[in-house]
Amino acid sequence: MIRLQQIVKRFGEATILKGVDLTLAEGTVTALIGPSGGGKSTLLRCVNLLEIPTSGTVEIGDSRIAFSPDRKPSRADVLRLRRRTGMVFQNFQLFPHQTAVENVEEGLRTVLGWPKDKARARAMDLLDKVGLSGKADAWPATLSGGQQQRVAIARALAPSPSVLLCDEPTSALDPELAEEVVEVLAGLAREGTTMLMATHDLRLARRMAGEVVFLEAGQIVEQGPPERLFGQPEQARTARFIATLT
Ligand code: ATP
Ligand code: MG
Repeated sequence: MIRLQQIVKRFGEATILKGVDLTLAEGTVTALIGPSGGGKSTLLRCVNLLEIPTSGTVEIGDSRIAFSPDRKPSRADVLRLRRRTGMVFQNFQLFPHQTAVENVEEGLRTVLGWPKDKARARAMDLLDKVGLSGKADAWPATLSGGQQQRVAIARALAPSPSVLLCDEPTSALDPELAEEVVEVLAGLAREGTTMLMATHDLRLARRMAGEVVFLEAGQIVEQGPPERLFGQPEQARTARFIATLT
């Protein structure tokens, strides 16, 4: 289980997250929606600790850190928690000087210390899973956006994270290439991958999410299953936002 409790994130004077509570059950997909600047990316970055929360608790499985403004968490604790997450970014962020398979095996070798053969075998399995075993030796620049994102998904999954965090995974892609990526993500969801995904794509949220969370100005306004949140939102603010998406 992944549990966030009372997550607050300040940048200087600005409070970007204002006490977010969110629990992700294992094997579920949660979509984060909300207006630009509302804090979706910041929240994802607080789960994998690319941003250190100002206060609150992040718990992934049996790893848990309680943050406080006057105490810096230890690097070892941060790394232990971060290693339980995988992240997929809007703009792929592959290592440009490594081939597809090298991108996927990199973390296994450098972070987890796997021997080359074992890391390569796992990377090839993952490339196969995302439909790219034929592109193992391709350089990122020679791949389409959809292919690059699928390599990025394979890379994020390599260390078997407890949760896959996706920040607008399809929004840099043309509809056709986005569809390739959605197919891969939907397959992972069917297999029980726990996911937290920020998206502006209503179709993606409807299709994949068991739970949709509407985050505005650093606070959860409303959350629920997609049929209810999209069909009969309880809050006028949610309804107004959803109207802008369709
Ligand atoms: P979008 O839908 O456009 O991706 P978002 O919901 O992901 O928006 P965030 O990127 O989390 O929103 O940004 C929330 C707010 O936090 C914004 O006002 C942004 O300027 C601010 N912010 C994010 N990162 C930093 C930072 N490192 N320093 C200062 N302010 C930041
Ligand atoms: Mg964002």
